[in-house]
Amino acid sequence: MNKHLKQLIELSDLDKAIDDFLPEEARINGALNALLEEQKHAGATIEELEIEITDARHKIAKSETHLADLTDRLSGHSRRAGELKSEKEIKAHSLEEEIAKEQVSFINEEIARIEKLQTTKSEEIAKLKARIAEIDAQVIDAKNANQETLAQLEDKRREVVTKREKLSEEIPPKVLGFYGKIRRWAGSRTVVQVKKQACYGCFMKISDKVYGEVINSAEIVTCPNCGCILYIAENAENTTNAVSEKLESTEAAA
Ligand SMILES: [Zn+2]
Repeated sequence: MNKHLKQLIELSDLDKAIDDFLPEEARINGALNALLEEQKHAGATIEELEIEITDARHKIAKSETHLADLTDRLSGHSRRAGELKSEKEIKAHSLEEEIAKEQVSFINEEIARIEKLQTTKSEEIAKLKARIAEIDAQVIDAKNANQETLAQLEDKRREVVTKREKLSEEIPPKVLGFYGKIRRWAGSRTVVQVKKQACYGCFMKISDKVYGEVINSAEIVTCPNCGCILYIAENAENTTNAVSEKLESTEAAA
């Protein structure tokens, strides 16, 4: 196999390993992040509830002013009761009084309802504050628990990064640049295997001519369809030889 192709296969394996550290780190920190997310959400809910409580306070104040007005009107009303003469006047007067009293009781009920809601909201805030404090303690525990695992992971990652650095120094800049350009869009599929004459980057069948070049592996060959670098795994080379012979015999027959 072409020496540079061999190096690129190894480089691609190292890059994949480096890429895999990130989701691994996220997995380790999963529980911790969930706690922090819950805490953030609780904080936002408290803010919303506090705004609602302030609104409720304004509503109560407004209702109380309205209530004071009605009470004034009612007392003025009963003072005038003695001055009424006709039955019609008395009837109208008592009707007005009835309406005002109904309004008073309606406003009182409304104030009681809002006050009850306020209490529920205050209780909810207290509960959320307690949960936030609880999470604070859990976050410290989770951080301590993760510390060692993360340090081990970081050691492993550094090891792979060093290996990659060393290897990339051995690869000619031109070849490295070629690999880098493909990796920019192909990511982990920059260097892919060919199996059963199909590219494992795009899963398309490759032509006999390209397949022959990949088997020969004198040069670095890319997939004509997706552009990934192609290779056949070393352990598959026995079967490859058989295929290669078959190809040659087909070509000879043609
Ligand atoms: Zn392909």
